[in-house]
Amino acid sequence: MDITRRDVGALLAGGLIAAAPAVSRAAGAAKPLDVIVLGAGMSGLNAAWLLEQQGQRVMVLEGRGRVGGRVHTLFDQPGVPEMGFNAMAAGYGRGIDAAKRAGVELYDIGPRMAKTNLTLALGGKIMTRAEWAASPANPFPAARKAMMPWEISGAIMHQNNPLKDWMKWTDPANAALDVSLHDFLKGQGLSDAAIRLAVDTSPYYGGSAYDVSALMSEFADGWTKAQITLGMQSLAVKGGNEKLPMGMAKLLKGDLLFGKEVVGISSDATGATVVCQDGSSYRAGRVVCSLPFSTLRRVKLDPGLTGLQAQAVETIAYQLISNIFITAKSPFWEKDKLSASMWTDGVAGTVIAQRFGESDDEITGLLVQARADLSAYWDRLGPAEAMRRVVAEIEAIRPAAKGQLEAKAYYSWAQEPFNAGDWAYFGPGQVTTFANVMSAPSGRVHFCGEHTATGNRGLEAALESSERVALEVLSA
Ligand SMILES: Cc1cc2nc3c(=O)[nH]c(=O)nc-3n(C[C@H](O)[C@H](O)[C@H](O)COP(=O)(O)OP(=O)(O)OC[C@H]3O[C@@H](n4cnc5c(N)ncnc54)[C@H](O)[C@@H]3O)c2cc1C
Repeated sequence: MDITRRDVGALLAGGLIAAAPAVSRAAGAAKPLDVIVLGAGMSGLNAAWLLEQQGQRVMVLEGRGRVGGRVHTLFDQPGVPEMGFNAMAAGYGRGIDAAKRAGVELYDIGPRMAKTNLTLALGGKIMTRAEWAASPANPFPAARKAMMPWEISGAIMHQNNPLKDWMKWTDPANAALDVSLHDFLKGQGLSDAAIRLAVDTSPYYGGSAYDVSALMSEFADGWTKAQITLGMQSLAVKGGNEKLPMGMAKLLKGDLLFGKEVVGISSDATGATVVCQDGSSYRAGRVVCSLPFSTLRRVKLDPGLTGLQAQAVETIAYQLISNIFITAKSPFWEKDKLSASMWTDGVAGTVIAQRFGESDDEITGLLVQARADLSAYWDRLGPAEAMRRVVAEIEAIRPAAKGQLEAKAYYSWAQEPFNAGDWAYFGPGQVTTFANVMSAPSGRVHFCGEHTATGNRGLEAALESSERVALEVLSA
């Protein structure tokens, strides 16, 4: 049976889908479930585990054929490159604890990352820092001319962050800061041309500095500073980060079902029913939904969300990121004596040498990353043509690389049906409008996921949200 989103409401309302009271493998016999968790990323897995620790009968439904969501390792490529989550900082108490429980070993990849040393390639030409500082094409203010394009906006934010207490970023008292990052940087003396080069070429959040909230960036900066005070480590999982969610999944007592694309959730006085694309349905006392808003939009909720919460689900944007993994037949960087890593303003985006061999120095491949417009452009070209164009551009910039590159894998988060983008980001004004209301429970449905956290970013945010949602369910 193949069901569309529109069909689901009618089927549920008409009683045409008889929701089976799902059973957990722990229960053995047909005992009703307490909670169904939707999504087996870090937040869903941790919420399921926390609830089981409190005696709840839990089932997890996952659309993909694997766990981990945005934690995804290419185990079949040299150095097992990461397509998603890279590393946790020393302050990731929850992440470090989850790794211990999952039985995976964390190690500090900081020393490997510190060797990245990006080379600047503008208009297809390599420039040293001194050449860039003296270049007539350099649009930065006199005092900052020696800064590289990828350094300047972060440094300005770091030195001039107006958010007094980053932990209170969602406090309505900070509404005046909820302007665009573009406005903030203009206020700090950067010209439009400088912002275009420094941010819009490869934005960490948003399509450009115009569509991202400065207040969110100020929170991220405050949080990063706090992480740094706790230590400079960058912890990754030995053998590939995806081993972490795999280990967490093994700790669950209840069922974790793969290939279960959720298309409908209805909630009534006695429980909640989840309907999947394959026609199956499951019922429990409550539902924990860890789906990113980018995919939740396609799920029929009954009753539907209303007001600002509905608006948040429909309008919060997700970062576009595409990755190409390339191996080199010979170390061409030794021939041209330049760093293997590059920041370009062309189709090759950012090229990061991966050092995941036996020693910190061995380069196991190049991870080429496109963000925002460039990511969308690659996706439009399609994997084969995007890989061909990227290899051709690296070869044009670095003649020593000619004939040495093999593009092995293409991975676009925007094209992943179960993510439709990378991390969530708030646009100007959206922190003030949405941050305090968008994660409220709706009937018997409770929401978690990195986008719902207010005290952390990234993987730690996903885990923070799972704690909040577990408490919410237990006290409901
Ligand atoms: C390129 C990249 C680099 C990153 N680097 C870092 C980093 O260095 N440090 C850091 O802390 N964080 C990093 N992150 C962020 C971190 O990976 C995420 O914040 C975190 O993994 C999100 O977990 P989550 O559980 O909230 O969401 P997800 O991992 O997206 O989990 C949601 C789950 O729901 C499933 N799902 C979605 N829709 C449906 C549906 N309709 N039916 C059924 N299942 C569905 C998905 O398949 C997925 O498994 C990075 C992410 C990316 C992509």
